[in-house]
Amino acid sequence: MSTVVAIDGPAGAGKSTVARRLAERLGYAYINTGSLYRALAYMANASGVPLSAIDADFLNSCKLEFRGAELFCNGRRLDAELRTPECAHGASVISADPRVRDFLMPVQRRAASHQWIVMEGRDIGTVVFPDAEKKFFVTATPEERARRRLAQSGETGAGATLESILADIKARDERDMNRATAPLKQAADAVLVDTTGMTVDEVVEHIAALCR
Ligand code: C5P
Repeated sequence: MSTVVAIDGPAGAGKSTVARRLAERLGYAYINTGSLYRALAYMANASGVPLSAIDADFLNSCKLEFRGAELFCNGRRLDAELRTPECAHGASVISADPRVRDFLMPVQRRAASHQWIVMEGRDIGTVVFPDAEKKFFVTATPEERARRRLAQSGETGAGATLESILADIKARDERDMNRATAPLKQAADAVLVDTTGMTVDEVVEHIAALCR
């Protein structure tokens, strides 16, 4: 029997850092599902396929698998190349397509078939693992999320300002929460963790205590 800790929440809430640290703490594998959507956006771009033309043939040409926490596409490790504003935007756009979501479902479920995991995303506690042992919905105000993004800087385009990042975060929230298939929302049985004003250590401590 595998154990799944589901961590969902909006862009920039600090989910990745918290989920990774929590996984270390619990001795579980860490799986970031946003990287799957990003990988498809990246592969489409690399193969000259417009996002609007993603179809079954394209999807079937992308063999995605997690080996531990690492994501491979057609045998090639994908990592830093996915952490760009272009991939973030592309992922957000294609994630509204039910065919894309269906295609990624078994990849996510397989990741839990042989290991205990902390899995992070938007619909893990609602759709991918509705029976997850523990569910958390991690969020913060849009302003706080924008400030954190700016401080990290890795994923912000050149010349990004607090205002442009805030606008981007709000646009992503809007798309993620209002799509017809698997919209971003808190599962009825998830614990809400508002991280506004909390440090990463405090958030990890708080969630780890609730997992014990
Ligand atoms: O978490 P990350 O920012 O890498 O996710 C990129 C995009 O992928 C999100 O904005 C969202 O649209 C999509 N996503 C999703 N479901 C998930 C994970 C990510 O729709 N489980």
